[in-house]
Amino acid sequence: MPQEVFLLKLGEIALKGLNRRAFEDVLLKNIRRRLQSAGEFSVTSRQSTVYVVPKDDGADMDLAEDRVSKVFGVVGYARAGVAEKDLQKICERAAEYLADQLEEISTFKVECKRSDKQFPYKSPEVSAQVGGYLLEQFPHLQVDVHHPELTVRVEVREQYAFVHGDTKPGAGGIPVGTGGKAAILISGGLDSPVAAWMMAKRGVELTAIHFASPPYTSELAREKVKRLLQKVAQYAGRIKFITVNFTHLQEEIRDKCPEELSTVILRRFMLRAAERVARDEGCSALITGESLGQVASQTIQAIACTDAVATMPVFRPLIGWDKSEIVKVCYQIDTYDISIEPYEDCCTIFTPKHPRTKPILHFVESGEQAIDGPALLEESLAQLETEWVMP
Ligand code: ATP
Ligand code: MG
Repeated sequence: MPQEVFLLKLGEIALKGLNRRAFEDVLLKNIRRRLQSAGEFSVTSRQSTVYVVPKDDGADMDLAEDRVSKVFGVVGYARAGVAEKDLQKICERAAEYLADQLEEISTFKVECKRSDKQFPYKSPEVSAQVGGYLLEQFPHLQVDVHHPELTVRVEVREQYAFVHGDTKPGAGGIPVGTGGKAAILISGGLDSPVAAWMMAKRGVELTAIHFASPPYTSELAREKVKRLLQKVAQYAGRIKFITVNFTHLQEEIRDKCPEELSTVILRRFMLRAAERVARDEGCSALITGESLGQVASQTIQAIACTDAVATMPVFRPLIGWDKSEIVKVCYQIDTYDISIEPYEDCCTIFTPKHPRTKPILHFVESGEQAIDGPALLEESLAQLETEWVMP
């Protein structure tokens, strides 16, 4: 008998009607993959609950908890003690397993769920028995059925009974892989990793595209992006990371295009190149970390000029977010400290003194004619660097 298991509560997945089976299969596959490095587990689902049961004593339960808490599609989870299906043993296991928590509080209640209707005691009887036993063992405790500090939950299932305290929040969202595939344009900044995480949360599998202009941008800047992707991959699963060399293209834009339009011109080339790579990778949308009004290239007019070259949908999940809201998620997904490391990005080299904040498409298009765009694009696309980023 295992000592301890995880009970995962499924979220929105439960609402998907006929697709539910397929969604659940993807979720179980994702959970199994994410747990590989924590030991051997059996992962099965029944009635909107996924059971994660270690197969032997070698499992790292703390690591497993971290992994499980980052799987999209799980709204909540509990680490639970396992007991044989015997009322006295359930009482003893509850007292022992929850001892630390029970010592710290003064009010509690017990709730029981019994999915095994063969079990000789009904739920209220189990709750009363366990409650009584805990009161004996922890005399400082009182029962408060309305506002308890801790709700002790007993679940009597087919094979075993489980005891646990309050459920912890899971990552929410829907399972990665059920929402198609999209390419995140990733820089080393605060925004794009958050945008990537948000779309993965909606079930989207990610490919990452990064533009680098060596020697103006350094290898360390690329390494930084990789470390950011590692953080995102803890939620999104492994991510293919493709670096596109933009050096010559950027030099040409700097030397030949109207300076005040160079930012928006560069962004148009980023989108063109990203679309080509994305299509080859089987992606059907692009994602950026743009937020309206944050910088000159993120006004409505500038975005319109950039979008004019796109034929795929471009998702900008942060478009209406304040920086402070973005930073909150950076802390949550642990990207903040990496993002603020100071490295040059291709967007921050050769920046014009006075970028046009309200560019007009017609002038952008003619300004772009100063360089041989198609040839430069092919040159960049001929030198892709690809690697996998693992969680
Ligand atoms: P971020 O914090 O994500 O860097 P930002 O506020 O600095 O965003 P910009 O530098 O204007 O804004 O970039 C806007 C978006 O363009 C980024 O969120 C990202 O999606 C994309 N982008 C910027 N630089 C790069 C790059 N070097 N490679 C790939 N995509 C990039
Ligand atoms: Mg940036």
